[in-house]
Amino acid sequence: MKTRAAVATAPETDLEIREVELDDPRPDELRVKIIASGVCHTDAIIRDQWYPVPLPVVLGHEGAGIVEAVGSAVQGFSAGDKVVIGPAFCGHCEQCIAGHPMYCANFYDRNFGVQRQDGSKAFSDGQGTIGSHFFGQSSFAEHTNVAAHGVIKVPKEAPLDLLGPLGCGIMTGSGAVLNVLEPKPGSSIAVFGTGAVGMAGMLAAKAAGATTIIMVDIVAERLQFAQELGATHTVNSKETDPVEAIQELTGGGVDYALDTTGIPAVFSQMTRSLGTRGHGALVGAAKLGTEAPIDIGTLLLNGIQVSLVIEGDAVPKEFIPRLINLHAEGKFPFDKLIRKYPFEDINQAFADSAGGSTLKPVIVF
Ligand code: NAD
Repeated sequence: MKTRAAVATAPETDLEIREVELDDPRPDELRVKIIASGVCHTDAIIRDQWYPVPLPVVLGHEGAGIVEAVGSAVQGFSAGDKVVIGPAFCGHCEQCIAGHPMYCANFYDRNFGVQRQDGSKAFSDGQGTIGSHFFGQSSFAEHTNVAAHGVIKVPKEAPLDLLGPLGCGIMTGSGAVLNVLEPKPGSSIAVFGTGAVGMAGMLAAKAAGATTIIMVDIVAERLQFAQELGATHTVNSKETDPVEAIQELTGGGVDYALDTTGIPAVFSQMTRSLGTRGHGALVGAAKLGTEAPIDIGTLLLNGIQVSLVIEGDAVPKEFIPRLINLHAEGKFPFDKLIRKYPFEDINQAFADSAGGSTLKPVIVF
C-alpha cells in the first residue's frame, strides 16, 4: 500500500516526508495505522549516525496507533485494537527468558538493524528500499509493519495521542526509578537532567513516595517547570556545585540518583552525590567509547551501587499498562511533558527538542 513516511537520509539533515510503498505484514507482524509518535533524543542521534545505522531509514520508536491488519501467526490482536509499540527483542535468549528483554542478546540487531531478520525492508520508493523496523516499528510513518511481540494492547478509551512516549523515553526514566532504583517511601533522590527522561524519573519517584526530590539542570526554565511538577528542590549546576548542594540538602548525600545526561562529568557528579550505600543509575546515552571518571578510592568506602540501564529494564507488556493506570489515577502526569506537532512539522519538533523549548514532542498524524 502507499503511505507517507519521514525518511532520514544524511546526518544533521532534515527528515524528508515522502510517499512510500509499504509491503504486506509478515505472519508475525501487525500493520498499524500510526496515530501519534513521540520524538526521542535517540532518533536524533541515530539520524546523526552516533551509532552505525544504515541510511536511508524511517526512524521513530515511540508509536501508538490502531491495528489494521494481523499477520497469520499472531495471536491476541484484532483489527481495530489500540496499541502502543515497544522495543523489539528475540524472546529466546537468556536475558529475554530471565525477564529482562531490554538486555536481549539480539537487541542491537532487532532495534538498530533496520530490516527484518530475513533482510527485507518494509518501505521502498522509486529510489530503492528504505530501512524499516527501527526499534521494531519505524513509527515516523502513517502506516507501518511492526513485530507483534513488542506491541502492547491498551484500553479502548486510552488517549493514543499521548501514549507513544511510554514505549521509550517515559518508560526509560520511570523504569530506571521503579524497576532498578526502587526508591523507598520517604527516601531522597537526585535527578540530573530535566528532559523528558529525567522528568519521567521524577514523576515516578514521586509516585513511589520519595519525599526529597532534587532536580539538577543548567536551564533555569526547565528547573522551574520541574518544581511545578513536584521537585522539592532544584539546583542550577551552571551556578552552584550540585554535589555540594545535594550533600547539604540531604545531610550527606541522596539515597538514589539518576543521570539522564550521559555527560561524563555529570555521571561523576551523580556518583559523588550519593550517600553511603546509595544507588545511582545512568540512562543518558553517550557515543560508543565514552569513558567517565569516578573516584573508586573514596566511593569504595561509601559502598555505592551504580547501574547502567536500558529502557528502564522494563518488560513493556507488563510495565506500560501500569504506567497507564498510574496516569489515569493522576499519579503520573507525563502528559504535561508533551507538545504536539503535525507530521509536516516533524523537523521543527526535532529542532525544538534539541533547543530545549519542548520536553517531549509528539507527532500527530
Ligand atoms: P534532553 O536533551 O531533553 O534532556 C537532557 C537534559 O540534560 C536537558 O534538560 C539538559 O539541559 C540537561 N543537561 C545538559 N547538561 C547538563 C549538565 N551539565 N548538568 C545537568 N543537566 C544537564 O533528553 P531526554 O529526552 O530527556 O533524554 C535523555 C537521555 O536519555 C538522552 O541521552 C537519550 O538518548 C537517552 N535515552 C536513553 C535510553 C536508554 O535506554 N538508556 C532511552 C531513551 C533515551
